[in-house]
Amino acid sequence: MVIWKYLPQKNCGECGEKTCSAFSLLLKGKKKRLEECTPLFNEDEYADKRKQLKELLAPAIREVEIGVGARACKIGGEEVMHRHELTFFNRVALVYDVWDTMDEAGLRERVRRITNWKKFYIGDFLRVDAIAVRSVAEDARTFAECVKMTAEETDLPLVLCSFDSEMLEEGLMVVADSNPLLYAADKTNWKSVLRLAMDYNVPVTISSSDLDTLSSLAATFSSAGVKDIVLNPEPGTNSRDDEFALADTFSKLIRIRRAGIVDENKVVAYPLMSMSIPRTAREAGLEEVNAGEGGNALDASYREAIHATMSTIKYADIMILHSIEPHSLIAVRTLAANIYTDPRRPINVASGLRELGTPTEDSPLFLTVNFALTYYTVESDINSNKIDSYLLVVDTDGMGVEAAVAGGQLTAEAIKAAIESCSVGDKVKHKTIVIPGLAARLSGEIEDVTGWNVLVGPRDSGMIPGWMDNNWPPEVETDL
Ligand code: SF4
Repeated sequence: MVIWKYLPQKNCGECGEKTCSAFSLLLKGKKKRLEECTPLFNEDEYADKRKQLKELLAPAIREVEIGVGARACKIGGEEVMHRHELTFFNRVALVYDVWDTMDEAGLRERVRRITNWKKFYIGDFLRVDAIAVRSVAEDARTFAECVKMTAEETDLPLVLCSFDSEMLEEGLMVVADSNPLLYAADKTNWKSVLRLAMDYNVPVTISSSDLDTLSSLAATFSSAGVKDIVLNPEPGTNSRDDEFALADTFSKLIRIRRAGIVDENKVVAYPLMSMSIPRTAREAGLEEVNAGEGGNALDASYREAIHATMSTIKYADIMILHSIEPHSLIAVRTLAANIYTDPRRPINVASGLRELGTPTEDSPLFLTVNFALTYYTVESDINSNKIDSYLLVVDTDGMGVEAAVAGGQLTAEAIKAAIESCSVGDKVKHKTIVIPGLAARLSGEIEDVTGWNVLVGPRDSGMIPGWMDNNWPPEVETDL
């Protein structure tokens, strides 16, 4: 009702909902965007309400956008400490580094590898989010050249990394239009970095191992008008001790996020950055970053995966990482994908009729549900056994077969509606549908309601090939 009061209350339906109150509910759950109420946005008389509602709906943690175009990424925007209380909204951004002492061929190759990396996972491709360009040579021209070559090879957002504002400005002059994130302002350089953030209107990271300093710098930047801030709580003075750095970072990330959400302390209600590479090592150059002190590259990548895992769970919104080896990258990226799924909605796929292989009118017609894990398992089992067939995917709100039968999402009526809406009768001439073994108890009802012949398939789609040997094609009934 609080949200509804600010809406035009026209019930005009332009937002896709029949009433403003229905739209209010969806706004609250972040299932609709304010911009979808076109009268509110287009008509001057609502200007005040629009502004007030924007403030009312602003997330507890500010949302910050980095980059431009299709691969721009949003970080922060969170409302809760724990995913089960609502959901998390913007997945932690994974940023992988390049540095300005790399030779050109190596640099371009690494940028392309990071940009093009992808891994198929539950119907979608996992990718990484941005590239951090680190200044190691401490030469402004060298850094700018590195930024330029990186930008030529990627459409990913960039993070410009240096504690020297001159370096940052040289980099900014190359890619300011791409909305890069600056890393970082600290207590020594904050005035000059604040000027850069204001002049170029780009987001900026504030970094300190002391939380009071971090908070004080954030307040200064905010009061100067810079709102797109990322906070990087560095580990304390023992940061070369891995165990200490991990525990210290863990504690700081939790304390800041709790202050932002539970205590509603707006001064620190910004996205958080976690960096696996201790500042001292970063400043010392690549070799130490790769190997760690007294270690080797493999050890370093293991340590990084542990750090990234911890930071993904609590509460990093963006991480700058180094190891792009599959054993590290796949593990970290997969965890991030899972932590940031919406617990209110099972992962689902579109319903409808799929053609697997090159089916004909004599090919089998299988039925499944739109729960992503079920769908991709069934699809993969059928495809890998090269069974030309149709697969009818019924919308069960993302529920698996057993739960959907019990919960009433998979019913004879729903199957009838799916058969009719997909014109399945025009595709096959046998009028036989193969249902999952877990839905066996619906078979009689499906036959009554749809008029189709039902065959009960195996409970496990991995057994479809053996089942086919004994059951397909179906016996034709005759009138002898
Ligand atoms: S577009 Fe706005 S005014 Fe129209 S029904 Fe939706 S919320 Fe109400």
